[in-house]
Amino acid sequence: MTDKQLKQADTKRRTFAIISHPDAGKTTITEQLLLFGGVVREAGTVKARKTGNFAKSDWMEIEQKRGISVTSSVMQFDYAGKRINILDTPGHEDFSEDTYRTLMAVDSAVMVIDSAKGIEPQTKKLFQICKMRGIPIFTFMNKLDRDGREPMDLIDELEEVLDIEAYPMNWPIGMGKTLTGIFDRYNHRVELYKHDDPSVMVELDDDNNPVDNVELSEDPQFEDAKDNIDLLETAGNQFDTEKIKTGDQTPVFFGSALVNFGVKTFFDAYLNFAPAPTAHKTEEGEAIDPASDEFSGFVFKIQANMNPNHRDRIAFVRVCSGEFEKGMDVNLFRTQKKMRLSNVTEFMANTRENVKNAVAGDIIGLYDTGNFQIGDTIYTGKQSIQFEKLPQFTPELFVRVAAKNVMKQKSFHKGINQLVQEGAVQLYTSYSTNDYILGAVGQLQFEVFQFRMQNEYNSEVTMEPMGKKTARWIDPDQLDERMSSSRNLLVKDRNGDPLFLFENNFALRWFADKYPDVKLTAKL
Ligand code: GDP
Repeated sequence: MTDKQLKQADTKRRTFAIISHPDAGKTTITEQLLLFGGVVREAGTVKARKTGNFAKSDWMEIEQKRGISVTSSVMQFDYAGKRINILDTPGHEDFSEDTYRTLMAVDSAVMVIDSAKGIEPQTKKLFQICKMRGIPIFTFMNKLDRDGREPMDLIDELEEVLDIEAYPMNWPIGMGKTLTGIFDRYNHRVELYKHDDPSVMVELDDDNNPVDNVELSEDPQFEDAKDNIDLLETAGNQFDTEKIKTGDQTPVFFGSALVNFGVKTFFDAYLNFAPAPTAHKTEEGEAIDPASDEFSGFVFKIQANMNPNHRDRIAFVRVCSGEFEKGMDVNLFRTQKKMRLSNVTEFMANTRENVKNAVAGDIIGLYDTGNFQIGDTIYTGKQSIQFEKLPQFTPELFVRVAAKNVMKQKSFHKGINQLVQEGAVQLYTSYSTNDYILGAVGQLQFEVFQFRMQNEYNSEVTMEPMGKKTARWIDPDQLDERMSSSRNLLVKDRNGDPLFLFENNFALRWFADKYPDVKLTAKL
């Protein structure tokens, strides 16, 4: 590509993740977006894959059992002149640190909320990571076809719990059985909800009265919606594109993914404001221009193949600049080694196609035989670069781990060290007994760990669940080993830094009361 073509290609990319609590409707909305992109022809395809009725790929055994596949990790399609990359953030029992790290590779996020439930815990956690990155966050209040909570309540809760300004882009007219449509504030029109024709639009005059639609003008629910819009105009937040850009204001859309109501309106508006790939910062603080001639990218996730006959893994790379071409030579910053990228995969929704070229915003999958670690930077050109470190996340689940066969300590240690370095799980050692303790944000990480220890390192491990704990780091200068008890276990992390694993928040508060001068900190 010429410089100009490269710049044009970059500006067309929209790379985002959908964050939500399980069952809020992420899969359903993803599927509608894939339908718009012409990637799937019928609703139900993605769902079928999720429930395992889809053609099986020969990928991870665990993934296969759960009916998800690597191809659904990244979905790429063209829509409205843009190239869309949706990165999946696995939830349910597949929730893991990878879910968090995926958010390091996107330029914006769509938050799907069940309008009957409001903000749920997983949404909150994922939101906080997006907020920390300062990326734009767009909200879709889903399931409007069912009776949910008062829209104003939902907006209040959103602002209060997540500490972000909300700007409703539209407002429901009725809800559940009485749903008539949405007052589309952004496009200044009403979108009527009709089963037979989902996209009947009614123009509004300057006083927000429907043009040529007596039925709507006489609908008391419409009057209600209009009153709420008036209230928002006078007492609500101002629409502020600068605040949207930095993630300080979230545009909110109401709709229903299941009946495909308001989804297209949402997506079209979203694409107007969602950012193209922007410059990524290096460790030194230099911003790398996406349209730079030189290629660069970083590994944000490594997925191991659970099939023992295929030991390969896939390293997911977010392209940050330049153009990737198959067979190109790159440098790996950490090892300062050169490597040729010939075995690479791009992600379309249905197939794993061999990628020919990719630009900033795209994701490529590198078949990896053990060269890559999470957070690695690869680049071309003379200037050596390392992108900013990926953050460490505070694990919540813990197990005590040991080798089943005490004679096989060597392979046990080798396996643990490599898997921990790779970022599969986090390792802690107990202060007093030097026991190994693993930490994770999701149960899946332990299962994958156990499976890979056995298959890749021939090391059978025993894992004794310790349950949920609240991890807090303590300044070593303030540490007194006598502070430790069965309710706050003292351990060391990989770097030798001390932390407590608190049994629950009650134990944490008790500790804070007892040692008011001790400063405890969490990672993200
Ligand atoms: P995910 O876990 O967030 O991916 O949620 P799914 O997309 O699998 O949806 C969870 C359940 O909610 C499924 O039974 C969906 O059919 C249902 N659902 C999703 N969107 C809507 C909606 O707009 N209205 C209604 N009534 N149900 C929905």
